[in-house]
Amino acid sequence: MFEGRDMGFATAGSGGSVVLADAMVAPMRSVPEHNWRDRLAELDLVPDLGEDIGSLRWFRGLATLTALSVAAIALLPDFGPVYGAQPPLPTEAEFEEARAQMIMPIAYGSDSGKRMAATDAVVALAGSPERPRIELTATLGRGDSFARVLQRAGVGGGEAANIVSMVSGVTSLGDIEPGTPVEIVLGKRASRNEARPLESVAFRARFDLNLEINREGGVLRLARKPIAVDETPLRIRGTVGDSLYRSARAAGAPANAIQSYLKIIAGRTSLSSLRPTDEFDIIIDYKRAETGEVKVGDLLYAGIDRDGKSAIQMLKWTLGDNSQWFEASGVGESKGALSRPINGPVTSGFGMRRHPILGYSRMHAGLDFKGGYGAPIYAVTDGTVTYAGRKGGYGNFVQINHGGGLATGYGHMSRFAVSSGSRVRRGQIIGYVGSTGLSTGPHLHYELYRNGRAVNPMSVKFTQRAQLSGNDLAQFKGKLNRLKSVKPGAALVPMRPSTRVQEEPKREIDRLTQRMDGHNIRG
Ligand SMILES: [Zn+2]
Repeated sequence: MFEGRDMGFATAGSGGSVVLADAMVAPMRSVPEHNWRDRLAELDLVPDLGEDIGSLRWFRGLATLTALSVAAIALLPDFGPVYGAQPPLPTEAEFEEARAQMIMPIAYGSDSGKRMAATDAVVALAGSPERPRIELTATLGRGDSFARVLQRAGVGGGEAANIVSMVSGVTSLGDIEPGTPVEIVLGKRASRNEARPLESVAFRARFDLNLEINREGGVLRLARKPIAVDETPLRIRGTVGDSLYRSARAAGAPANAIQSYLKIIAGRTSLSSLRPTDEFDIIIDYKRAETGEVKVGDLLYAGIDRDGKSAIQMLKWTLGDNSQWFEASGVGESKGALSRPINGPVTSGFGMRRHPILGYSRMHAGLDFKGGYGAPIYAVTDGTVTYAGRKGGYGNFVQINHGGGLATGYGHMSRFAVSSGSRVRRGQIIGYVGSTGLSTGPHLHYELYRNGRAVNPMSVKFTQRAQLSGNDLAQFKGKLNRLKSVKPGAALVPMRPSTRVQEEPKREIDRLTQRMDGHNIRG
C-alpha cells in the first residue's frame, strides 16, 4: 500500500515538475556569468564529513578541518606561572637569629640570646647567685640502677641510698620499667661544696603504683599513690571466614597472641579442617591502668566453636613450675608421637643389610634419614643429653636420655648444638647433618634404645599426657568458667575518665601563649 502511493506520486507530480524545472533552468546555465565571488560563495567550506566519504570534496573538508585544528593548537595560550619578586621565607636558623636580636622582655620570648666575646669593659663578678631550686626529669635506662639515676641527677650519695632503701621497702626496684621518667626537685644548698638536698622525687614504680617522696619538716617521707588497674581479660570472638589469622587480626587480636593461638589449635586439629562458619574464641591477659596505659599479656584460652557448641577448649594451666595447655576435661596436650628428628625421608630401615662401606651384611640398628649437609637435627622429645662427642663409626654423636628407660642417639653430625649434660626440649635443635664417621654422604643415623638396647624406632611412640585430678581439676574448671564468662569486648569498655595532665611547656613564650589561649589545664 505504501509503496504503491509512493510510486504514484513520483510518476504523476514529481515527474512533471522536473521536466518543467529543467526547461526553465537550462537557458540560465548556459550564461557564463560566474565571477570569483559567486564561486567562493558556492564553495562549500564546511562539507559534512559524514557524507561522500572518500570523495575529493570530503578530502578537501578533512584538510580544512586539520588545518584549522593545527592553527587553533598553535595559537593556544601558555598557562605557565607568572614570576614576580617574592622574598623567601626565613629558614629556622635565620628566624632564631632574628629572634635572638630582638629587644624584648625575656618573658615575651627573647630567651635564646647570643654570646658575644667579652670586651675590656667587662668586669667579672666576684660571685654569682645560685638557683634556689632545680626541677629536672631523669630517665631510668635499660640496665640502669635507680640509685645511679638519682646520683646522676645530683642527689648526694647518702641521700640516694636512703631513698633507694625507702622505695625497695614498698616495691621491688626491678619492677620499675626502663624508660620511666623520674621527676626530681633539688633544693638550696648551704655551700657550693656539697650536694643539693632532695626536695621531692616522683615516679611510677609499678604499673599500678606511683610513688612520691617529699621533704616535710626536714625529713623525707614516702607517699604511695596507687593507680586503679582493671584486670578484665581481653576476649575476642569472631567467625573464621577465609583466613583465621586475618579474621582474628580484623577483630582486634594482637599478632603474637594469634600466633600462640594458631599453635595451640594446630596441636589439636588440622587448621585446614576449620570451616569458614566456625567461631574462634581468644582470651588474652589484659591490664588497663586508669591513666590509660594498657599491658597486653599472654594467651590464656584458645577455643573453636562449631554450630554453637565448643569444639576445642584449651586453657593454659600452671602445674608445679611449668605451664602447659589443657583441654576443658583436664587432659594435657599430648607430648609425643614426634616426631621425626629431621625433615627428610627414611632412606634405610632397621634390620639386617649389606653395609655400603664394609661390604658385608650386618645389623643396621637404626634408621637413616636423608638430609642436606648442615640441615638441623631436632630432639624427638624432652630429655637430657648424656653424650655429645666423637664415637667411632658414628662420627659426631649425641645421645639423649628421655627417662622411662628410653634414649635416642643421633650420628654422623657435622656440628653439635648441645653439650653433654644440657636439658633439651622436644623439637630443640641438637646438631646439624654431616658425614662424620663411617658414612658415604651427609645423612642422619638415628637410633632408639629401650633399657640400653637398640630397638626399631618405628615401634615406639612417645605419648605422655598430663591429667588433672582432684583439687587441681576443680580449680582448673573454676578458672575455665570464670574466663568463659567474660563478655567479648568487656575489657574495652571505658574506665572512669582519667585526669590527664598536660605537659608543661619549656619556653616561657609558649607558657604565656598557652595561658593567653586558656588551654592550660593547670594554669
Ligand atoms: Zn645408619
